[in-house]
Amino acid sequence: MRKPFVAGNWKMNKTVAEATELATGLKGSLAGVTEVDIAVCPVATALGAVSAALCCSNIAVGAQNMYWEASGAFTGEIAPPMVKELATYVIIGHSERRQFFGETDETVNKKIKAALAHGIKPIICIGESLEQNQAGETVDFVGGQIKGAFAGISAADAATVTLAYEPIWAIGTGLTATPEDANAIIRKAIRDVLVELYDDATAEAIRVQYGGSVKPHNMADFIAMQEIDGALVGGASLKVDDFTAIVKAAT
Ligand code: PEP
Repeated sequence: MRKPFVAGNWKMNKTVAEATELATGLKGSLAGVTEVDIAVCPVATALGAVSAALCCSNIAVGAQNMYWEASGAFTGEIAPPMVKELATYVIIGHSERRQFFGETDETVNKKIKAALAHGIKPIICIGESLEQNQAGETVDFVGGQIKGAFAGISAADAATVTLAYEPIWAIGTGLTATPEDANAIIRKAIRDVLVELYDDATAEAIRVQYGGSVKPHNMADFIAMQEIDGALVGGASLKVDDFTAIVKAAT
């Protein structure tokens, strides 16, 4: 039985003061929720403050990205040991990073390996564009992203990661995949490919979140699906009431 996991991706929103206020609000509203693993992923400048605000609570902190080298001349990047000081999780390969910042399956794979080597838990994003969806290419495309992401990663390490299936056309648009479609794609393009790469036990151990316009009113429908183990939430994670309702709907 996989424990539900709901993570909030705050994207490029919130100053340190605003992020601290949001984290403090969530710490209160989600206190005592133990049936769901919870994480919030603030912008890098707020990681320290949010991690201090959430200290000793049931809400973990994640970074939104990191580089794969441990240190050096990589202006503007943050390294795994720096993330490890402040966070438990790191989002890797979000579609916005693939679309706007040149992230590829190869860089995603390097970052996953770096996260695992430094004891940071990756949340790996995959998902197809509207064009690929309409052309019936979703299963092949997402399956290819899975093969790229897991290249050279052992079954023992693979079993510890989280995947977020996020159809790009559903992110920030108010559109969602139907729960049934998302469930079928996760089965065919993700778990069946993981069985091919590893084995049944590894494929069944990995938690797969759905992401793309998850809101308080639709979370229950997604979590009811056999293959969906939680959500990666963008816009609705910026409001205490909405994120709290989503987490509670995932219990
Ligand atoms: C996301 O940022 O990963 C996301 C799913 O955003 P939203 O919930 O706003 O669609």
